[in-house]
Amino acid sequence: MSRLRVAVVGAGWAGLAAAVAATQDGHAVTLLEAARTPGGRARALPVTLPDGETALLDNGQHILVGAYLETLALMETVGVDPDASLLRLPLVLRDAHGDGLALPAWPAPWDALAGILGARGWSWAERWSLLRAAAGWQRAGFRCDPGLSVAGLTRDVSPRVRESMIDPLCVAALNTPADRASGEVFLRVLRDALFGRGHRGWGGSNLLLPRQDLGSVFPHEACAWLAAHGAGLRIGRRVQSLRPAAAGWDVDGEPFDAVVLATPAAEAARLVEDSGAAAAPWLAAARSLAFEAIATVYVIGGPKLPLPMLALRTGPDAPAQFVFDRGQLGGPPGLLAFVASASAREKEALQAQVLAQAAALGWSVQPLQTIVEKRATFACVPGLRRPPQAIAPGLWACGDYVEGPYPATLEGAVRSGLGAARRLGR
Ligand SMILES: Cc1cc2nc3c(=O)[nH]c(=O)nc-3n(C[C@H](O)[C@H](O)[C@H](O)COP(=O)(O)OP(=O)(O)OC[C@H]3O[C@@H](n4cnc5c(N)ncnc54)[C@H](O)[C@@H]3O)c2cc1C
Repeated sequence: MSRLRVAVVGAGWAGLAAAVAATQDGHAVTLLEAARTPGGRARALPVTLPDGETALLDNGQHILVGAYLETLALMETVGVDPDASLLRLPLVLRDAHGDGLALPAWPAPWDALAGILGARGWSWAERWSLLRAAAGWQRAGFRCDPGLSVAGLTRDVSPRVRESMIDPLCVAALNTPADRASGEVFLRVLRDALFGRGHRGWGGSNLLLPRQDLGSVFPHEACAWLAAHGAGLRIGRRVQSLRPAAAGWDVDGEPFDAVVLATPAAEAARLVEDSGAAAAPWLAAARSLAFEAIATVYVIGGPKLPLPMLALRTGPDAPAQFVFDRGQLGGPPGLLAFVASASAREKEALQAQVLAQAAALGWSVQPLQTIVEKRATFACVPGLRRPPQAIAPGLWACGDYVEGPYPATLEGAVRSGLGAARRLGR
């Protein structure tokens, strides 16, 4: 295969992965990004603290897990040491009272087994209901009817275990509430996280909490790597148009042999439709996706938490499922990040409810910044048909929404980007 001129449109984690892999394969890559910083939905965001200092926070609080094999390997490729930039903890789903699940640092599946047997606040019958269900999932090869929801899949698990483990895990991984979330995708995540191998022999379920802003965890280093390896970087340059050309595609009038669209689904659909490409099924699939929001409420003045991440009790007026102590993650002391996944509330109402959640725990905190990403991820519903990677000859899509085994996550985005680069050939 000869060296192709490749345009990658979008420098989120998918586009960056595609650009790095295509450059490694010897192609002449130009990366075009509309925003002034790379990273897309997982990027750094400067925020002014009450003392006037600027802190780099994130567009949304993120968690990675040990099973993110491709993401962690790619971080190493571009020169990031995951051990230095991420705090690794065995999976803990404990609330502020210490109830819930905590896995010991043992190999899988013994860590999960010991964690379930030792879970605080669960009766033996409740633990047994989960073990029985998990044994059934394992016997079935972690597969189920594609039409089944997570609530349907776990109907025989005790309500307390569903509330304190299944529901938070489901919303954290799929960003879709259990009654609407795909049981099939949930099982795949459980298989890889609880029973799979992690990076460098880590547990697949290990939580990896960024101790730097997300920009430094991958996007900035990826751009530096690309520049050093001869790729063209055009950051702050929104692509307006795509046109079929005699041998390839024109991107805003500039000729390329192949194009990888790494923008969110709606923008990829706009560019594809305007180009006149014969891609009606792809467009229909891209436009059929529904989306879920995620809100991150940053507050200051919080206490040092017993763990860097705690699960929270949720309810109609208590939207945040998790709180992170950024003071233990490289940030200033007292900075907490509350995360409300799959929340449909408006910003002001949500912030007020989260502050009330904090007050109910006895924490008197000041709001710093609330970020609501209305289209944070696609809704990962049962039987979902996602658009494929191939759009038209020489035109590929990548991104967390593209067909693949994972829900909308960093690992899903990175795998999709690597997949697009592989399609270019070497
Ligand atoms: C608040 C929040 C919390 C999350 N938490 C987690 C988590 O804990 N763990 C996890 O694994 N995942 C999490 N996710 C999901 C994760 O962030 C996404 O799956 C991932 O970042 C998607 O990457 P992407 O490259 O597919 O898309 P994007 O990040 O959306 O990147 C697309 C890029 O294309 C650019 N672009 C758009 N139009 C154009 C154009 N015309 N020309 C040039 N560039 C263009 C955009 O500016 C953007 O940079 C979270 C997401 C959000 C929003």
